[in-house]
Amino acid sequence: MDHEAPKTLLITLSGKDRPGVTSAIFTTLSGAGVEVLDIEQIVLRRRLILGVLVRAPRDWKKLRAAVEETAAALDMGVDVDRGVGDNLARSQGRSHVTVIGTPLKAGHMAAVAGRIADSGANIDRIERMARYPVTAIDLHVSGADPDRLRALLAAEAATQGIDVAVQPANLMRRGMRLIVLDVDSTLVQGEVIEMLAEHAGQAEEVARVTEQAMAGELDFEESLRSRVALLEGVPATALDQVYDDLVLAPGARTMVRVLRRLGYRFALVSGGFSQITDRLAEALGIHYSHANELEIVDGRLTGRIVGDVVDRAGKATALRRFADAVGVPAEAVIAIGDGANDLDMLAAAGLGIAYNAKQVVQEAADTSVNVPYLDAIMYLLGISREEIEAADEEAGFTTPAPPL
Ligand SMILES: [Mg+2]
Repeated sequence: MDHEAPKTLLITLSGKDRPGVTSAIFTTLSGAGVEVLDIEQIVLRRRLILGVLVRAPRDWKKLRAAVEETAAALDMGVDVDRGVGDNLARSQGRSHVTVIGTPLKAGHMAAVAGRIADSGANIDRIERMARYPVTAIDLHVSGADPDRLRALLAAEAATQGIDVAVQPANLMRRGMRLIVLDVDSTLVQGEVIEMLAEHAGQAEEVARVTEQAMAGELDFEESLRSRVALLEGVPATALDQVYDDLVLAPGARTMVRVLRRLGYRFALVSGGFSQITDRLAEALGIHYSHANELEIVDGRLTGRIVGDVVDRAGKATALRRFADAVGVPAEAVIAIGDGANDLDMLAAAGLGIAYNAKQVVQEAADTSVNVPYLDAIMYLLGISREEIEAADEEAGFTTPAPPL
């Protein structure tokens, strides 16, 4: 057997895209009977770039002349590079770096690419995941440890005011995942306890304590019990009103709908109240939920919680329990949250996402998403806006048209 690397030709064609370009070039190549080793093609606006790597025939100059003639007839430019062997193997240490900006400016990309270059890594491939309502770009990077790259890019993202997520590029991205969502200020806008407190005339006091608790300044259980105590006497019907007033995070329905179709499982894990979260789970088709139960006696809140409080540790325990129930390892779990009581569950997940989160949470999580769209999470999973819209259209959902 011949172990010497074969002589190869890299043919790069570029110009205005029109039907039949790829067909014409391969028809010409087929005249020489060459073996195809690799093909990559992209179209940006209406410009096509086609790269073809073939084994070089003995009379490679004749093939080059034929390719140049075909390109000229198509009014396209062509480069024919003679070399040896296949593409170089990508370096070890592979990551997906997702960059999200609203808008995404050239300076942002310069900063991200600059830090990647500083790390010694290479950008092997770039694709757009979304243009609307955010611009999301996926970079395939090799040659740097993902954890080191994440630290470097997290700092740059904060400086630039954009979101940059770094994930190890492995098979995990292809599989079914369990997504564990915090509820208050994550799945829904605002805090349910503050909405309930308005019914008790205690809105200001509760909001003040909530703010401190979410920033990690107070013991969660103690602060929750003291806030719930302020709700004593509120009629249970207030829960129905609060439920009806809830506003989901933009993109929440889209995310759950699309990922459920792919077989994903969802769980709500909340330091809020099961009287609300169980209904939300039911309405959205979310498989599991776990939260605190408000005690109700004679149609009124007693100001107490039934059983143990779901605190920071309790949220992580619930995440592990749901992962076991689904039968996936913790690495396959994506946790999304915004508060200090989410820190343990974000750490327990394979991918912990701080969603429009408090500073302390952003600093600890694997990645931060600061755009107000929950469906942007899907771009981190390698699912493009175009795929989401195509799937939605098939299922009879109309998504808003993007501006040109
Ligand atoms: Mg929250």
